Amino acid sequence: MPVLRTVKDYIRTIVDFPHEGILFRDVTTLFADPRGFRMAIDQMLHPYAGEQIDKVVGLEARGFILGGAIAHQLSLGFVPIRKKGKLPGAVISEDYQLEYGEAIVEIHDDAIQPGEKILLVDDLLATGGTAQAGIRLIERLGGEIMGCAFIVDLPELGGRQKLEAMGMDVHVLCE
Ligand code: IMP
Repeated sequence: MPVLRTVKDYIRTIVDFPHEGILFRDVTTLFADPRGFRMAIDQMLHPYAGEQIDKVVGLEARGFILGGAIAHQLSLGFVPIRKKGKLPGAVISEDYQLEYGEAIVEIHDDAIQPGEKILLVDDLLATGGTAQAGIRLIERLGGEIMGCAFIVDLPELGGRQKLEAMGMDVHVLCE
């Protein structure tokens, strides 16, 4: 019998990536494991099974892997939020602060209809800046966010509090 492991056991830490002094939480080892990946998807969608959700939105890039699997499991469509310049159709944009400089994320302007109920997905919540920009995009299109689901929260960076202050329901699998 294989030893039972938790989601956290499958995540590895890479020291000094992408910069010196950063501990990067690498979920590719979770994605690569058949039991780990299934467990993560099951746990991420668990609070939302049976809830009325119309679409899953994923943040580039690991949010696409998770969001695609969750959307398929819930028999829903999937919508990507991408970095600037990647989406081919007409978009709306939001910028947000990074540690050094700023970034811009975009969504197709017809990807969400007003009143649609949305589940927002990404791998990791750090400062919350990326997710906040995603939330603003979804809300500008009239989407109603039913939850924001992440595998990892880094609590010392305060992202969860920021999203909860925006009225978001935040679901994380581990810290
Ligand atoms: P935030 O905007 O500061 O919350 O950063 C979250 C975004 O950066 C997410 O899209 C993550 O994929 C990515 N990110 C930041 N730190 C890490 C990490 O340690 N591992 C994996 N992704 C990370």
